[in-house]
Amino acid sequence: MIFVRPASIIELAAALAEKEGKTILAAGCTDILPGKIGRPWDADRIIDLTHIPELQQIAVENNELFIGSCCTHAQIAENGLVQKYFKALAEACAQVGSVQIRNRGTIGGNVANASPAADTMPCLILFGAEREVIGENGECITGFCLPLPEDPSADSGTPVSAFAKLGDRDIVTVARIQLAAKSVIKDGRLSAVSVVLGAAGQTPYFCEEAAQVLEGSRAEEELLEPFAAALAEAIEAHIPGRTTLAYKRSAVKGPAAEILKKLSLELYY
Ligand SMILES: Cc1cc2nc3c(=O)[nH]c(=O)nc-3n(C[C@H](O)[C@H](O)[C@H](O)COP(=O)(O)OP(=O)(O)OC[C@H]3O[C@@H](n4cnc5c(N)ncnc54)[C@H](O)[C@@H]3O)c2cc1C
Repeated sequence: MIFVRPASIIELAAALAEKEGKTILAAGCTDILPGKIGRPWDADRIIDLTHIPELQQIAVENNELFIGSCCTHAQIAENGLVQKYFKALAEACAQVGSVQIRNRGTIGGNVANASPAADTMPCLILFGAEREVIGENGECITGFCLPLPEDPSADSGTPVSAFAKLGDRDIVTVARIQLAAKSVIKDGRLSAVSVVLGAAGQTPYFCEEAAQVLEGSRAEEELLEPFAAALAEAIEAHIPGRTTLAYKRSAVKGPAAEILKKLSLELYY
């Protein structure tokens, strides 16, 4: 087996253009290695993505925030630009696995692994992120571009967002339900609300009815019942007949309460 470690995008492009045999792209390996325990490495080449500076940067480019595919969850959670403009994503990354997993695992690996419980996915969908790829078939993700919200003003309002995750344990847990929401605060109320549900279907999805419950509100506690009910209806529509349906319908109230609380804190402080 050949191990290739490109040190630039150009070297990566050259490595990807080499078509001989089966290739594995490797980033933090937190998904790859558990899947290989007791199994042979059925590959001819491994391309290590972790020594390419362009894939590790978080930078503003043309009204977008570019997040390189090899940025770790810890790096994203601690980044000031992500915290300022895309707080829900920072919160999601801060809840991935354990310290060790967050220090190794990358956003590109999280998306490419395509688990329905991947914690970054609801936020990337919420913020309208576009993938950037390289390779003849677009097989390697180089990063994600997230459109920056308008800077806060009386007209545009102040952008806010929040993420909540429900699992079987408090830490190092696979998500049973994820909820990500964004809005702008205008005249002391929530405006242009969007809500994305994750881990409650094959892929995350927008929940328009739940967003409508919060639109124009101050995220008051009384909205919890109708907000959770709208989310439960969306879950039912996406996983009808699934054995976990009854649990998820009822359990969604927890993340719903957390999102309401986080948004109300943004409104009042
Ligand atoms: C103990 C433990 C706890 C975990 N907890 C969580 C959790 O709470 N939430 C969560 O979402 N995940 C969790 N995970 C899963 C995993 O850590 C994440 O999905 C992580 O982001 C994967 O990134 P990686 O860099 O380690 O990917 P890798 O393991 O290197 O790769 C994963 C897959 O993606 C492909 N790949 C990697 N980078 C790219 C790229 N740039 N372009 C194309 N393909 C690529 C690889 O070929 C492979 O198929 C956990 C894993 C473990 C072991």
